[in-house]
Amino acid sequence: MKKTPTQDTNPANRHEPKEFPAAPGQTVETLEAQIRAYQASYYNGEAEISDQEFDLLWDTLKQLKPNSPVLHRIGADALDGFPKARHLIPMGSQDKAANPEEFREWAAKIAPETFVVQYKLDGASLELQYEQGKLLRAITRGDGLVGDEITRNARRMAGVIPELNIPFTGGVRGEVVMTRQVWQERYREKANCRNAANGLMRRKDGEGCEDLSLICYDAAAAGDDRYFQDELEKVHWLKAQGFRVTETKTFTDAEAVIAYREEVAEQRASLPVDIDGLVVKDRKTDMADLRRDRPERQIAFKFALEVAYSILRTVEWSESGSTYTPIGVVDPVRLAGTTVQRANLNNPDMIRSLGLKIGSAVSVVKRGEIIPKIEGLAPAGAVPGALETQDIPFPTTCGSCGTLLEDGGTRLYCPNPGCPKRILHRIQKWVAVLDIRELGEKLLRQLFDTKRIQGISDLYTLTKEEVAEFERMGDLSAAKVIRHIRTQRALSLAAFVAGFDFEGVGETIMEKVVAAGFNTLDKLRAASVEELAEVYGLGDITAQTICTGLEETAADMDKVLAAGIISIAPPPPDTTQPLRGLSFCFTGELSTMKRSEASQKVKALGGTVKSTVVKDLSFLVTPDPESGSSKNKKARDWGIPLISEEQFLAKLGTS
Ligand SMILES: [Zn+2]
Repeated sequence: MKKTPTQDTNPANRHEPKEFPAAPGQTVETLEAQIRAYQASYYNGEAEISDQEFDLLWDTLKQLKPNSPVLHRIGADALDGFPKARHLIPMGSQDKAANPEEFREWAAKIAPETFVVQYKLDGASLELQYEQGKLLRAITRGDGLVGDEITRNARRMAGVIPELNIPFTGGVRGEVVMTRQVWQERYREKANCRNAANGLMRRKDGEGCEDLSLICYDAAAAGDDRYFQDELEKVHWLKAQGFRVTETKTFTDAEAVIAYREEVAEQRASLPVDIDGLVVKDRKTDMADLRRDRPERQIAFKFALEVAYSILRTVEWSESGSTYTPIGVVDPVRLAGTTVQRANLNNPDMIRSLGLKIGSAVSVVKRGEIIPKIEGLAPAGAVPGALETQDIPFPTTCGSCGTLLEDGGTRLYCPNPGCPKRILHRIQKWVAVLDIRELGEKLLRQLFDTKRIQGISDLYTLTKEEVAEFERMGDLSAAKVIRHIRTQRALSLAAFVAGFDFEGVGETIMEKVVAAGFNTLDKLRAASVEELAEVYGLGDITAQTICTGLEETAADMDKVLAAGIISIAPPPPDTTQPLRGLSFCFTGELSTMKRSEASQKVKALGGTVKSTVVKDLSFLVTPDPESGSSKNKKARDWGIPLISEEQFLAKLGTS
């Protein structure tokens, strides 16, 4: 096993200097240069490395040269084209506790009566500045004193409130995040949610900022340090103003905080957003402390370090159904308590966007997930001896049927609908969905290899005698298999379609589609890609997959239903979709909410939103139904009702 300098990432050892030996070539000077360079890239655009990797460099330098000037300034000068604006109160860096010992040390020093503990969101900080309750500007972290003004982009984000219902003057702080679901559905080419969020919030055209949310954790009133009594009151106040607030709890005992960190660490994989630890604050607000570069009365209590560096030696392509997924094989490395040698590379785009080659030094992470993944390149010099030798070879033909593989960017796959591997996978999925446990892997394989079963519907023509012969099992066992296959079942439409194994289309996605009104098989089959893509959160690729899948499996589906054993349950009456079948178009500004918010509300209630006035539009929402604007005119010409914002709100049921 090849030992690399930063390989031992056991957080319990992090306070011991000997765990951070300088690698050959990794002198104090190179560390300082690296930290400066990463800070510049972090504050001026997309982060090149994760916070945890950065922290590792930071901590190493802190051990080697505690008084290095690099450790005592925040960020770099912002360089890009956004106007600059000053923060109300400097956005300092947080001190960090990497393990319980370090946390206990801090707790003993500060001795808070009450600990206020919040999730530490892994996103990008943003300060909203209000004057008399009106949002004036939104400022990124920048160098901690001055940041980029991205107000226009911020207005498009969920959770950013343009006008408060009180005349508050001051700042509200939060973290701009992208949920894992959004990342999964639309931004998988980005290494993680944080990178994706960072990139979007800095786009000049603001495109995609609707996919971001602001989750708040702090507030300060301008010129009035006593406006908030303490840290907990801030949280209550933020909630009362309608802000989304990061999960907050209070404890009176340091050990309870430590236990809570363990608890949260276990749940983090199932949270909707990435978090990388807890922020622990003294409940007492100390404004003088908050103005420091590194406030002392709060600390980031991070999760155990879960990143390690290694060298990519080869890439294996794991086959599941028709999809070929790249798996990186790296030099064995210790990560979160286990030895890791294989890490997920997601898809071809990931390999290309990282510029990975065989021999690249990579960072392997495991953030709560079970399977580690290669998240990016390791920082320069982190793995001595890394030498990029050749491009990563991609398979070109399907191992099962010889068809040329298609590189769809986020997926490399065999496009042959009749590919045996794809069909076997589909049947296996169906058996799993219906939980026909008696029909084991081996028997299924035999039935498939002998071509007795070539589609799901063939399961329903199997006889006891055939099964008995195949498995050489007794009549009794064979009868049991058949009995289970032939058990009458009424599946929901979502479960039925998901059972036919369209790539990446699970029951949850199908439930959304069904909820959007495509609630019978006929309606689904009649839907176009464009119509399905309109379903909130679906996107073009998934919509295409569903359409193609429905086409390819149509005959098999019909046969399954015709066998009379499996049926599709009728949709339950739905009261949550009052706008189903209705479409809305907006013209002009709304006074009570942003257009993006209005769109989301319409979609959440089952309606659709059109960007232009089309013939079958249900309503045009306009600030002035009397005006002669071109949209108004078109709507009138086609006899489409023009409604005011008030009437629109009434339809939403919110007025
Ligand atoms: Zn194939």
